[in-house]
Amino acid sequence: MTIDLPARPLKVAIIGGGPGGLSTAIALSRIPNVDVTLYEQATVLREVGAGISIGQNTWNVLELLGVADTLTSGHVTELIQISRNGKTGEELHRFERKELKKRPNLRTQRTKLQSALLSHVQPGVIQLGKKLIHLMDNEDHVELHFKDGTVTTADLVVGADGIRSVVRDTAWHGYEIKFTGTTIWRALLPWDDVKDLDPRFDTTAWWHLPTSHVYLSPVGEGLGEIAARQWQDPAIHSASKVSWGVPVSKEHVESHFTDYLPAIREVLRKVQEGDWREFAAFAGPELSRLTAWNNKVVLVGDSSHALSGAFGSGAGFAMEDGWILAQALSYHRNDLNKALPLFDAIRVPYYTRMYKHIQAEAAARENKLRELGDVSEEDRVKIKVIKDGGIDMSWIYENNIGEVWQARVESRT
Ligand SMILES: Cc1cc2nc3c(=O)[nH]c(=O)nc-3n(C[C@H](O)[C@H](O)[C@H](O)COP(=O)(O)OP(=O)(O)OC[C@H]3O[C@@H](n4cnc5c(N)ncnc54)[C@H](O)[C@@H]3O)c2cc1C
Repeated sequence: MTIDLPARPLKVAIIGGGPGGLSTAIALSRIPNVDVTLYEQATVLREVGAGISIGQNTWNVLELLGVADTLTSGHVTELIQISRNGKTGEELHRFERKELKKRPNLRTQRTKLQSALLSHVQPGVIQLGKKLIHLMDNEDHVELHFKDGTVTTADLVVGADGIRSVVRDTAWHGYEIKFTGTTIWRALLPWDDVKDLDPRFDTTAWWHLPTSHVYLSPVGEGLGEIAARQWQDPAIHSASKVSWGVPVSKEHVESHFTDYLPAIREVLRKVQEGDWREFAAFAGPELSRLTAWNNKVVLVGDSSHALSGAFGSGAGFAMEDGWILAQALSYHRNDLNKALPLFDAIRVPYYTRMYKHIQAEAAARENKLRELGDVSEEDRVKIKVIKDGGIDMSWIYENNIGEVWQARVESRT
């Protein structure tokens, strides 16, 4: 008589507790025979940064993860968003919608998204204070070494450790990210301090100059967000730009926006000393596969596509990755050699499309500037903001990852 012993659970180690890691942990906990541990370097799980946009694509995946109803706080940005010239105040572009969708686009605090996700992670899954420093490919498993001296093993390592990923840099030897030249400064502040300064601050808006912008938006619960960014030639400024979420002084931030309207400068001045955080944007080349070491390592989220926050929807992409990974594993009953190629087949072309889009947009902008020759500052701002042809971006912002998965499964049957 033969007895069918239950298969040993698949041992999965997720590195990183951002949106990618948390959503992967949630999605994997729903599928049979998987033993998940999430290792996060921080000793307290805390989001750095200020606000985050939740668009339709992100709502779609939050629904699939069962988290959508938990995310209840934020400012509805869906009805109106405006782009203006930061020096003259001229309105350059207006996005307006008449009716709200069931789940309208929101700008919320990053911590709200994180705590909503966290509340759906099974108890005991997360280990804090675990900074991964090294990985080893040991034929049928991966060995993980942490800074505290501990070592563990896993059948599958999910690199959800962000744009400066140790998992990616180990398993994709030679991969390099580079400073893009863009530095972002972000802060939250009481919105009452801002909204009365100028009636135009009622609305979520971008205030632009040719190589910088200041984004102002309420984020709910009486708070507002400033995300100010500036591009400087990376050939000159790269050496000092390794910061990610580090505190910087008011004076330092304000010095980059002296050409802006007095009201904008006044908003910047309202931020309390110690509240600004600086983020240097890095980007890296496209990966042709998001899986490595014979299907024992997979990347999700920012580690898998170092696009430095392009499209403003990276948390959504990270959660889509996590959800698709779980579907692929479930579909192939935890057979890594089938599930991981399926994950690649779905996600790689999507990221390829993003890289192509960014390249095409940059080329179009360059061409336009070349065509026009000597253009005024005002025209440079217009070229930056107003894109010809109204490119359809629904493949990003309306992406329904559940339907993408369904279509893929149907095409295989
Ligand atoms: C300025 C800016 C604005 C943005 N705005 C938006 C927006 O509006 N909407 C949106 O959807 N996205 C936005 N994004 C993108 C979004 O923040 C990221 O895409 C998203 O956070 C990626 O999630 P992730 O889980 O892949 O990585 P991360 O959020 O970076 O999380 C990685 C986690 O891994 C941990 N970690 C790192 N290394 C290790 C290690 N060695 N060992 C253990 N743990 C480790 C980190 O501590 C962290 O908790 C923006 C990004 C930027 C820079």
